[in-house]
Amino acid sequence: MNEQPSALAGHLDAGQRPPQDAQAQPAHDAAAAPIVQFRDVSKTYDGLGNVIDRLNLDIGRGEFLTLLGPSGSGKTTLLMMLAGFENPTEGDLLLDGRSLDHTPAHRRNMGIVFQSYALFPHMSVRRNIGYPLLQRGMAKAEIARRVDEALRMIHLDGFGERLPAQLSGGQQQRVALARALVFRPDIVLMDEPLGALDKQLREEMQIEIKHLHAALGVTVLYVTHDQSEALTLSDRIAVLDKGVILQVGTPEQIYETPNSSFVANFIGEMNNFPGTVREDEGVCMVELDCGVTVQATNAIAAKPGMRVNVAVRPEQTILSQPKADDTGAIPATVRSKIYHGDHLRYEIEVDGCADIMARTTVAAPERLSVGARVALRWAAGSARVLDARQAR
Ligand code: ADP
Ligand code: MG
Repeated sequence: MNEQPSALAGHLDAGQRPPQDAQAQPAHDAAAAPIVQFRDVSKTYDGLGNVIDRLNLDIGRGEFLTLLGPSGSGKTTLLMMLAGFENPTEGDLLLDGRSLDHTPAHRRNMGIVFQSYALFPHMSVRRNIGYPLLQRGMAKAEIARRVDEALRMIHLDGFGERLPAQLSGGQQQRVALARALVFRPDIVLMDEPLGALDKQLREEMQIEIKHLHAALGVTVLYVTHDQSEALTLSDRIAVLDKGVILQVGTPEQIYETPNSSFVANFIGEMNNFPGTVREDEGVCMVELDCGVTVQATNAIAAKPGMRVNVAVRPEQTILSQPKADDTGAIPATVRSKIYHGDHLRYEIEVDGCADIMARTTVAAPERLSVGARVALRWAAGSARVLDARQAR
């Protein structure tokens, strides 16, 4: 980005309108050399256990990559190592193919945004945003010009002379964002930046961050425990649990083809049917604990005899009135029905098995009443055989 005459000014227009096609291919080139590489990185704080455990991850130039995982899974630790505030206990961290071992935090040229805005309370918005430029020895006039651009970019022109305390939470976080971007960093690290905002503001800010990323082409490493935020923002998501990346992929890949029960259940809602693999010759047949044998996609190379979870999304489950010749359907009972305006949710008790959720359109031909006996099935290919790890 450094060769551009003005990183922010050149993109102001683009930054203020939605991308032409939200589904367009990400700006980054997956085939190009990654900008960041974690190579067998481990981190222990106390010498006892690994908080990050031999982790490998490449981040593409210009990519928006999200680390998604529950609290304590090691997201902040990973980010702090890249920022240079923590050192890996083992392994290598590369930036543009070169080791970061001897590069201190202030020379890594990364913008950072935390959940707590960390603005200087006694400095005006202008001085907060201009601070990284002042630190870099930039001339006053150039700083003023760049700060003006940044204020426009975050839709806060006219707010430059205010103190942080005179802004709303969302406005303060936009100032923190501008301060992290104003010096044209190669990479921006964001650690739960929207965590303190209410739902509506959070969703607005997600769209703004997405636009800024598209407009500036900067590489973003984003941390969140919020799966819907990860789905909304990311080119790719890395799902982290206990310091280990379980799966990396596009939002579609993570949602539609999870490779473990943890990922399947962490992203979106999932129904889990415990069972035992009976056959895996071409098609995988699983005898569910409720007695019905079903076909499912074997995502974990499970062998006959193995205990597994058959996972099906609520929106893939199909409910109908039971018929005499219902082979392959799972007998169940409707326990509750909730009207959500655009869809209906049924809570279903499967005979001799788990309780599950089904989701149908309001216009579904068969509306079922509470207490009704139903036949449960799903579209071919929508059930996945995953590990039997206890669903969350
Ligand atoms: P996350 O950001 O995903 O919530 P963290 O990276 O903050 O997770 O923490 C991962 C694990 O490392 C947790 O078990 C946490 O208690 C531990 N941890 C984090 N920072 C320190 C520290 N400075 N000293 C000791 N343990 C830490
Ligand atoms: Mg954290």
